Amino acid sequence: MTEVAIANFLPEIELPEEKLLRRLQSIISGYLNNKQVDSINHAFHFGADAHSGQYRKSGEAYICHPLSVAITLAEMHMDTQGIIAAILHDVIEDTPISKEQIVEEFSQEVADLVDAVTKLTKLDNKSRAETQAENVRKMILAMAKDLRVIIVKLADRLHNMQTLGAMPIEKKRRIAKETQEIYVPLANRLSMNSIRHQLEGLCLEAIHPHRYQAIRQAVKKARGNRREIVNTIESAIKNRLNQTGLIFDVAGREKNVASIYKKMRRQKIPFSNVFDVYAFRIYCDQVDDCYRILGCVHNLFNPIPGKFKDYIALPKANGYQSLHTILIGPYGVPIEIQIRTHEMHRMAESGIAAHWVYKSGDTSGEHVRARATEWLRDLLEIQKTAGDSLEFIDNLKIDLFPQEVFVFTPQGNIIKLPRGATIVDFAYAVHTDIGSTCVSARIDNKLIPLQTQLENGMTVEVITASWARPNPLWLNHIITAKARSSIRNYLKNFQQQDAINLGRRLLEKELKTLNIELDNIAESRLLQLLEVMKMQSMDELLEAIGLGNKMPILVAKHLSQEDIHAAIKLENTTTENTPLIIKGTEGMVITLAKCCHPIPGDHIVGFFNPGKGIVIHHHECRNSKDVRKQQSSWIDVEWSHEISGEFSVELRIELLNQRGTLATIASTISGLDANIESVTIADQDDKVSIDLITLAVKDRVHLANIIRKLKKLFIVLKITRIKA
Ligand code: MN
Repeated sequence: MTEVAIANFLPEIELPEEKLLRRLQSIISGYLNNKQVDSINHAFHFGADAHSGQYRKSGEAYICHPLSVAITLAEMHMDTQGIIAAILHDVIEDTPISKEQIVEEFSQEVADLVDAVTKLTKLDNKSRAETQAENVRKMILAMAKDLRVIIVKLADRLHNMQTLGAMPIEKKRRIAKETQEIYVPLANRLSMNSIRHQLEGLCLEAIHPHRYQAIRQAVKKARGNRREIVNTIESAIKNRLNQTGLIFDVAGREKNVASIYKKMRRQKIPFSNVFDVYAFRIYCDQVDDCYRILGCVHNLFNPIPGKFKDYIALPKANGYQSLHTILIGPYGVPIEIQIRTHEMHRMAESGIAAHWVYKSGDTSGEHVRARATEWLRDLLEIQKTAGDSLEFIDNLKIDLFPQEVFVFTPQGNIIKLPRGATIVDFAYAVHTDIGSTCVSARIDNKLIPLQTQLENGMTVEVITASWARPNPLWLNHIITAKARSSIRNYLKNFQQQDAINLGRRLLEKELKTLNIELDNIAESRLLQLLEVMKMQSMDELLEAIGLGNKMPILVAKHLSQEDIHAAIKLENTTTENTPLIIKGTEGMVITLAKCCHPIPGDHIVGFFNPGKGIVIHHHECRNSKDVRKQQSSWIDVEWSHEISGEFSVELRIELLNQRGTLATIASTISGLDANIESVTIADQDDKVSIDLITLAVKDRVHLANIIRKLKKLFIVLKITRIKA
């Protein structure tokens, strides 16, 4: 045979990922338009490229995993962005692709979803303490500003559970426990019953493999014995309903292994009692038909009094709708019947995921929060009419509109704090001693100032020093009662003499780093110092240091100056125009960094710079990040409340290159009470000119106003503030 002929005889071999892609395409083409299907195909190719060369433990190409996740979501009719995010959900974490590339290739929305799923994935295994499951769930909900993130994450977990495969039993069990404690309740909370049931079954199988198999075998055996009776009942129902001309589907319903196990345990009854019920579900299109069908089956078999429940008129608290009734069937067997529309069924199976595309065919651009709110409002409405407990909704509300942040200690414990809490609040929440001796902190291994506000999922490591004491300045940015009362308490109980002693210790320690002994300093120098600091006595100065109103390191630097009077002169010339930025820095020269141009309202950090005093940088300034690594030379600073004056700030503006555009910009800026200090044309072509403008503003609010007004001008294409 020739080669060609052989090739013709070979069966077409389809790769697993091709098969999955085909399956996904056939599902999505059922509810999405061609353009949407195309963009999902594009996501597949992009994802497959990114993951190429990576394989799952099963030996399949890695892309099979995200594809399977996408299929689960497509079955729930997830929107296009959600499906794309599912396909790309491991790309940021496991491939060189960056979030920015996803923005470029797809959209900000998709990139945000993928990024958020990546962050959630990093939480897995982070917290091992079982008692914290509730907090982990809350943290997940709080982190997912967009509920689709959780939906993708649940589908991801489902596929991981389905493919535990040949993993060591202990590892399987650990993953299953985590799933049971965190993801099953989340699925339940979001009414995603189909995923919840599947997860429950897989968890039971991994945790109690023998019990799982035993129940499965029992179900199999019982099924054979029941087949005849099931068929008899089913055809009786069908025949009766067919006479009415109603359109319907009947399906026999079997309890799944996990719920049989749960019921056996909860009610302490044997398998046969649980399984001895014949259950059917009848689906139709119209709500009215549900009641007509109910009438028919009540007419066919006798209903058991008191067992009828109308969850259509009075839905369950999580939005579940259906009619439930129990009948006495042939040979006296009980028959459970549920009657619902197809739409109700979809809602019961997919919960919030079904709601995602509920009313809007087009889901782009709409604000996701608003949709979550709408979902909540619907549920609230249901609850009102149901007169049910509001607990469910209350929990969900807390989770969706979090007033709390959840952060980790380095040991993986979760600390819950009110939104807006800072490192100091965290330190006090861990322990009063840690709070009162904290000097700085690392978040995710980066040093950050104490007034930094916490964000969900951060790991916070507080750095303490035995000599450190609570700083009265902290009262400006802490928000928890515990931190506030601890600091106040400390300050109240702090005796004057204690303050002086502490102040001396702190100053001596700082002087030592400069190789100076306090006792060796000449009296005249100390007097000069007091003059500079505008203090009456050394005790007054030491007390101020001890109370945290003066920084010991600043005083020490002063004493190290060759000529303190020269320093006074320098101050008098510079501090005249510069505001007092932080209490306790009186007498120090303060410079605002030229690289990042901090203005009042910005988060700032201060650095000691020999000869320059304290240089204030914007918190995000790149230059400051290097210096910040040297712990000792940077300090927390805050803008003074009485600050006033003008501050330079640099803007980069992309303008249409037309005659007179700069004049328009200039007049707009001066119309808003700000002065232009300089203009540099950085780059220019026929159409666009990129200009760097330095202007003087009062503060952040003033600057924001100016930027807003400028953005409204049609000649302005883009504005960014330059922070080095
Ligand atoms: Mn995954």
